[in-house]
Parts: sequence; C-alpha cells; structure tokens
Amino acid sequence: MPGPISAVAAARRDGHAIDATRLRAGLRRARRAIDRHAAGLTRLDAVLGDGDHGDNLAIGFRAVDELLDDLPATTTPGELLRAVGHRLVGAVGGASGPLYGTLFMGLAKELSDTPTRAEAVAGFGAAIEAVKARGKARAGDKTMLDVLIPVHAAAADGADAAALRRVAAEAAEATIGMQARRGRASFLGERSLGHMDPGARSCQLLVEAVCDVLEDAA
Ligand code: ADP
Ligand code: MG
Repeated sequence: MPGPISAVAAARRDGHAIDATRLRAGLRRARRAIDRHAAGLTRLDAVLGDGDHGDNLAIGFRAVDELLDDLPATTTPGELLRAVGHRLVGAVGGASGPLYGTLFMGLAKELSDTPTRAEAVAGFGAAIEAVKARGKARAGDKTMLDVLIPVHAAAADGADAAALRRVAAEAAEATIGMQARRGRASFLGERSLGHMDPGARSCQLLVEAVCDVLEDAA
C-alpha cells in the first residue's frame, strides 16, 4: 500500500492537475516573461517578419493580466481559459493573436470544472489540432506549432516540468534549421533558414511559465 507521502504525490500527478489559482499564477508569469523578452521576440520577427511579435504579445498579455483582475474568484479553469482566448484575439494584432486565442479557447472547450492532468494533456492536443486547422499549418512549417507539438508529445509521455522545459528549448532552437512555409516568414523562402521563429520562441516562454507553476506546486 502506498505511504501517505507517495499517495499525496500520486494525487498531485493524477488528481486535479490544473485549478484556477494555478492557471492564474501561470498567466501572470507568462505576462512577466513576455514583457521581459518582448524586445528579443520583436528582433526575431524583424528578421523573419514585420518586427511586431514582442509588441503584439506584450499588449495581449497585459490585457490578460487586467482581465484576471476582473474575473470573479469562482471562475472555473475552462471559463478562465475561454475568456483569456477571447481577450488575446481582441487585443493582439497580427497572425499570432487569433492563433494563440484558438489555442486557449480550444483547451477551454475540453476541460471539466476539475480537470485532471490526463484531461489537460488531451485538451492541449485538441487545442493544437484547432491551431493547425486555423493556420493551415503542420509540423515542420517553422511556426509556434513546432514547439507546441513536441511539448504535447512529451507531456503525453508523462514528462515532468524540467523535461518539458528542455523539450521546449530544443524545439524552439530546431526552428532555426527550418524553412518557413506559413506566415510572413514564408515570403522569404530559403532566406528564412538560419533564424529562430518568433512564435516558436514565444511558445517556449509560455511553456516555461507553466513549468514554473508546476514546479512551485511540486
Ligand atoms: P504577424 O506575422 O501577422 O506579424 P506575429 O508577428 O504576431 O504576427 O506572429 C508571427 C508568428 O505567428 C510566427 O513566428 C509563427 O510562429 C506564427 N504563425 C504565423 N502564421 C502561422 C500559421 N499559419 N500557423 C501557425 N503559426 C503561425
Ligand atoms: Mg509580426
């Protein structure tokens, strides 16, 4: 029979993996990370696109931060993520706003009021499919999906926060060697080779914010 400590650990792993409090903490961290790295994201987008990705997301996550102040404490994880998705679509200019909005709203759609880790991972997978459909993109096109897809695969394999960070960092790095087939960067053709995709980098930052919260709760 498992002792009390392993029983608690198992409940953390398999029980209510994401509650609204931890989600809010993750989103606040995401805002700080995006703010800290906005100039770097915009620099990447200046090479491959139109140089606005950091600014776009900084505006979007500032709007999310304000939204969190306004949402009642009783808001469920699904309601929270749906509202965040809507806010991102409304506030973020550029292609990434609707795509990140689709990601958050897609996840929201799959969650019960007390989501388990398994449910969150399955919902994340469904949300990625929604992003693929919306952007008509797939793995290897040098987009945010090239971080989301491997991170989801690792999460489905039971990876812990440290492993998820590593996967996200390696996946963002791997976009340097890809030629863009979607978004503005695709206009550059072969000249898109040799540079990290800004959306892949911003996804990595969001994964790190989630990992920070997972580690705090461990
Ligand atoms: P815009 O290109 O309209 O200026 P952003 O600069 O905010 O928008 O975002 C660019 C990022 O959006 C890209 O680096 C890429 O990761 C992502 N992106 C662009 N188009 C697509 C698409 N069709 N599918 C998935 N991601 C995409
Ligand atoms: Mg741009």
